[in-house]
Amino acid sequence: MGRIVRRGVEPLPRTAEAVVVGGGIAGALDAYFFGRSGLRSLVLERGPQLAGLTTAQAVACFRAQWDEPDYARLVLPSIAFYERFADETGLPGWEIGLRQQGWLFLTAADDGPAAMGRFVAATRGVGVDDSEALVGDEVRRRFPWVGERVTAAAYRARDGWLSPYEVAQGLVRAAGAEVRLGTAAVAILTDGGRVAGVRTDDGVIATRTVVIAGGPFSRRLAATAGVELPVEMVRHHRAMVTPQPEIPADGPMTLDTDTGAYWRPEGGGAFLGMGQDEPGTEPVDPVPADWTFPAVVMDAAERAVPFWGAIAERLTAGEVNLGAGQYTCTADGLPLLGGTPVEGLYLHTGDNGWGIEGGPGAAMHLARIVAGTDPDDAANPYRLDRPTLAAAGAPRTVTY
Ligand SMILES: Cc1cc2nc3c(=O)[nH]c(=O)nc-3n(C[C@H](O)[C@H](O)[C@H](O)COP(=O)(O)OP(=O)(O)OC[C@H]3O[C@@H](n4cnc5c(N)ncnc54)[C@H](O)[C@@H]3O)c2cc1C
Repeated sequence: MGRIVRRGVEPLPRTAEAVVVGGGIAGALDAYFFGRSGLRSLVLERGPQLAGLTTAQAVACFRAQWDEPDYARLVLPSIAFYERFADETGLPGWEIGLRQQGWLFLTAADDGPAAMGRFVAATRGVGVDDSEALVGDEVRRRFPWVGERVTAAAYRARDGWLSPYEVAQGLVRAAGAEVRLGTAAVAILTDGGRVAGVRTDDGVIATRTVVIAGGPFSRRLAATAGVELPVEMVRHHRAMVTPQPEIPADGPMTLDTDTGAYWRPEGGGAFLGMGQDEPGTEPVDPVPADWTFPAVVMDAAERAVPFWGAIAERLTAGEVNLGAGQYTCTADGLPLLGGTPVEGLYLHTGDNGWGIEGGPGAAMHLARIVAGTDPDDAANPYRLDRPTLAAAGAPRTVTY
């Protein structure tokens, strides 16, 4: 059984089999999958709680509807893991807020039917056999609140969302890992090109295995070991609106591919989000939010789903809760998973905004690399020295 220990309650252990830096969804998943391969982790989280930084801001949706193999390879096993979470973790009845209410992509483009048809065909190519292409009024028959402008959609009924906080709590419990809250890793200590330990703000831990799963702060910590991470931190907002009669409580995650605006129901209200043209910045905690965002996102969402216009007109500031977090972005949109030039130093970062839906697959992949049991290790498409990162520049555009 895992334990979560607050700073000052017990002395920090002076040795560990493996140290995982970061108690977000990535670190919790790493601790769990390392535990399954026999490696006991000490998780360091500098904040006051698990899953309190980027993970806490997520809209936490997942979709099998991807059209590229390197995405599907992480997401498909992740969804299977979430669907069987209580059984997989041996925590009978453990609730992770899993709602499989579907994921609906919409477009108003003239060539929408052809584009959605191609997209659904491509999802077949990566092993997804239950996505659907919908055309014209077929979309409105299934989802009556969709506007007249919409020409086509792609939909999968078993996509949805979950509660990452409950996932993280369950993982730590099932992993038998120890989490130290309020404890920051300050530097990776090395000895002859090999990890020797971690210096924290509460003393030194000797270890030969360290995973950096620090979300937006990963780059800073990696630099202390001389490892440069090609990532940029990009702010993304999410607005939550209080219950409104128009919002279908049983509706899917709905994303307008023309504007990037998306929403999904939550407790009678909804979460809304949208990728914006934000510059990369340094990591920050907390991430400041821009109060123009709710109006901007509802204006964009209204194009495909007109009821957002009516809601926006009458909504008061007190009915909106606004938050923001940072995606940790790479040039090719894929995460950084695997080793570094420093022996014993591993990475699980570069979430690009899909670290929850791809997280279990990523942690499984990393656990195999750390255990030396991955037959594909040499061809790891997420490795730090992959050629697609050499041409680093603006991060690839993400759809949410
Ligand atoms: C608005 C928004 C919507 C999103 N929606 C989705 C979605 O629908 N689906 C999806 O899959 N993803 C979504 N995401 C992305 C998702 O939130 C991230 O991919 C995921 O939470 C990243 O988890 P993480 O553990 O890597 O990082 P984090 O959650 O940031 O965790 C890293 C942790 O490491 C700790 N840490 C950092 N440095 C140190 C240190 N030196 N010592 C100790 N602790 C340290 C931090 O305090 C933090 O708690 C969304 C993100 C945002 C902002």
